[in-house]
Amino acid sequence: MILNQVQNDNCWKMYTLGLTLIATTDTVAGCERKPDHPELTENKNLSYTHIFAGNPFDRGDHVRRDEDLLKKMIRQDNTKLLPFHKLQPLVRREGQAELAWIGHEFLDSLPEEAGGPKFLGFDEDRNPHFAVDISAVEDPSGIAALAPGAAFEDGRAAATDISQEESGILAQARSNLNWHSQHRFCSSCGTESQSQRGGLMRECPKCKSQHFPRTDPVAIMLVYKGDRCVMGQTQARHDSTFYSCLAGFMDQGESIEEGVRREVMEEGGLEVGKVTYHSSQPWPFPASLMIGCHAEAISEDIVIDTGEMSDVRWFTRDEVKLALEDKLEGVSIPGPIAIAHHLIKAWAYETANI
Ligand SMILES: [Zn+2]
Repeated sequence: MILNQVQNDNCWKMYTLGLTLIATTDTVAGCERKPDHPELTENKNLSYTHIFAGNPFDRGDHVRRDEDLLKKMIRQDNTKLLPFHKLQPLVRREGQAELAWIGHEFLDSLPEEAGGPKFLGFDEDRNPHFAVDISAVEDPSGIAALAPGAAFEDGRAAATDISQEESGILAQARSNLNWHSQHRFCSSCGTESQSQRGGLMRECPKCKSQHFPRTDPVAIMLVYKGDRCVMGQTQARHDSTFYSCLAGFMDQGESIEEGVRREVMEEGGLEVGKVTYHSSQPWPFPASLMIGCHAEAISEDIVIDTGEMSDVRWFTRDEVKLALEDKLEGVSIPGPIAIAHHLIKAWAYETANI
């Protein structure tokens, strides 16, 4: 996978994608770029593709308004369904780990409250793919047995072992199924709403309000100044060695740059000047979009928000390089599954376009 490749090859220059969505394609001189997924990294001119991105499906907007067609597609012989039990996907681990798609026959055995399959999209052979929440089934072992060698497992653990493309599909499916399970009732009048457009909308049969799946933007930023950067430890991780980028949910009516500056001031008391976008990552726990930035501090005195953070401190570039190799005593940082790892690494090895 691309992330593994980058992790193992410091020459591999990260692409950066400006806020204007103009990709830059500079590379480190003398280093050959070897993308595993050229269709993602070159043809579509995308930037860094993190785990939980890279979904190859055609999401089929043109069929989503035809409810009859969607119903027929669920029962086609070439249709593939991915069951989730309590948000855990069915995963097969015989050889390369992969999502365990099964046919539609089991749908007749599901209780009515299961909610029905949600359309994910078409693969390159035009096979329709759906996700289905089977949490209403008390014992899911019978459904798991439909895919020999498969079991329901934690999505975060599975994501590091399945392919890049399937991690993106997992993100789409998990976030969508979670949204339906948490938004069954109309927020205007309280009536039970109905899934429409294959799961991309719910409509209230009484007041006709339309409700759409939410994605929660999170600003995550590595703050730096000269040869030092800032990492913090949240109260939730108190007593551990874990330090990471500062981060927080975007507020309404706020630009990304403003969100970055506000969060850094709130959590660490630091003023930020220049903000540079790096890359983004869907994070389906349950439905975040991590917006990764580098933020240049214009002050140095840290004032910790002790309500949220147990520590915020400066690290030198050499310390960060040691931490990336897991050699900095008393400090651990996020692994390659998380965008934070790549924000930190890009700054440490000066491959970020900042
Ligand atoms: Zn309503």
